[in-house]
Amino acid sequence: MVLSVQLKTPLTGEYTQPTGLFINNEWAEGVDKKTFEVVNPATEEVICSVAEATEKDVDLAVAAARKAFEGVWRSTTPQERSVLMYKLADLAEKNLELLAAVESLDNGKSISMARGDAGAVVGCLRYYAGWADKIEGKTIDIAPDMFHYTRQEPIGVCGQIIPWNFPLLMFTWKIGPALCTGNTIIMKTAEQTPLSALVFANLVKEAGFPPGVLNIISGFGKVAGAAISSHMGIDKVAFTGSTLVGRTIMKAAASSNLKKVTLELGGKSPNIVFNDADIEQAVSWVNFGIYFNHGQCCCAGSRVYVQEGIYDKFVAAFKARAEKNKVGDPFAEETFQGPQVSKVQYDRIMEYITSGKKEGATVTTGGERFGNKGYFIQPTIFTDVKPEMKIMQEEIFGPVCAIAKFKTEDDVIKMGNDTTYGLAAAVHTKDLNTAIRVSNEIRAGTVWVNCYNMLHHQLPFGGFKESGIGRELGEAALANYTQSKSVAIRLGDALF
Ligand code: NAD
Repeated sequence: MVLSVQLKTPLTGEYTQPTGLFINNEWAEGVDKKTFEVVNPATEEVICSVAEATEKDVDLAVAAARKAFEGVWRSTTPQERSVLMYKLADLAEKNLELLAAVESLDNGKSISMARGDAGAVVGCLRYYAGWADKIEGKTIDIAPDMFHYTRQEPIGVCGQIIPWNFPLLMFTWKIGPALCTGNTIIMKTAEQTPLSALVFANLVKEAGFPPGVLNIISGFGKVAGAAISSHMGIDKVAFTGSTLVGRTIMKAAASSNLKKVTLELGGKSPNIVFNDADIEQAVSWVNFGIYFNHGQCCCAGSRVYVQEGIYDKFVAAFKARAEKNKVGDPFAEETFQGPQVSKVQYDRIMEYITSGKKEGATVTTGGERFGNKGYFIQPTIFTDVKPEMKIMQEEIFGPVCAIAKFKTEDDVIKMGNDTTYGLAAAVHTKDLNTAIRVSNEIRAGTVWVNCYNMLHHQLPFGGFKESGIGRELGEAALANYTQSKSVAIRLGDALF
């Protein structure tokens, strides 16, 4: 197979798209020479084919990562790691437009959002570059004839498996804390969206990272993903994706070498609007909460609870707002919503819409395909949604919002917590007491007040309940990639 192809985006013109596996800083075809096609979700046309990693390629990547971990990366000082990461961030910034364009082409997200993602990639890399030389242990005073201290050591070779909704951003959330703490990586991207990470791989090499430190492979979950999670030579696996696959990964880790596991899984997050909220603001944030990234966010505000005093007014204003969202060509500057990522996701979402209609919820707007080419779906609002309906219970991962009415604060806390998930929530109110009381009572890893989706690399993110294990971002993520070693030194020469 060819290891790169010339592709075009409306934004950048022609560019070189790597298509191989990036192992040991080299481009390679897979051992079994398999490939798979990557589809443009806006046109349903094949963009190109890329190498598909199998178990044998995972073995090669693990060997490269192990060698780097025990060799060159171990003897690299924290500050040298930091400098490399800053260089990588600078290169990402220099190539921001290209990275954003490739992301739009492959994932279908609107170019303005892709630029936002690429900017966040730069910020996240710089944040973790700054941490590299600030990982510290402690001295612990126990007895005068002893000296005790702890070291925070890297875990080792880390497998990282990411989804397709934020291909580059999820990539960076994972590599940032892993690299700055001195680990090496085998990254498996999602089969729907391998392209931006492959472009990024060239930057990794250009920044000067030693071979084997960061290996990037494209491939399928059941093959390459499963090989990573059950590999005896991998010390830790970090995963973002569905709760179903999260369970599979934990089982594989448990029945192989008990590798450490962190999971960032799904959600069905409540977005709560009280009578005293600023309606115009709340409408805007609820709209952004569900339709940002076409509803393909683990933290999407997909259950909207509106207090009875403003329910009708809110629904009318939200309907008008959602109908104004510009759906269409991801490369058009004014586009807010592009296509869903794949035919599989499109079909899954349309099935949920059909189920909502069958179960008796009211379609207030949307509910149909948008256009006749590409995997576009109209921004959809269901009202009169009952707690037991599938569209209120299950993660849809599309531009579909379920609205219900509530009476009291106690009622809405119960409704908000009536889920197996616990990733995020939001409260819209002008009353600080209400905001704080409800934030405290909602069982979720993040609560936004009078806003939504305001994520930042300095702030931990992750799930309560079945939404995950561990926290990404912020200082908290360093704990996923370090392990504490206690050293106890006996002082003097008194006989024991
Ligand atoms: P998925 O969980 O199947 O895929 C996510 C990643 O896991 C991909 O890289 C995939 O190749 C890999 N994977 C799949 N099966 C695996 C296995 N057995 N072992 C190891 N790795 C495996 O998600 P999907 O099928 O693309 O989407 C299905 C649903 O998952 C969506 O509708 C949505 O509800 C949810 N989802 C959540 C997130 C999130 O950010 N939490 C992201 C994507 C999808």
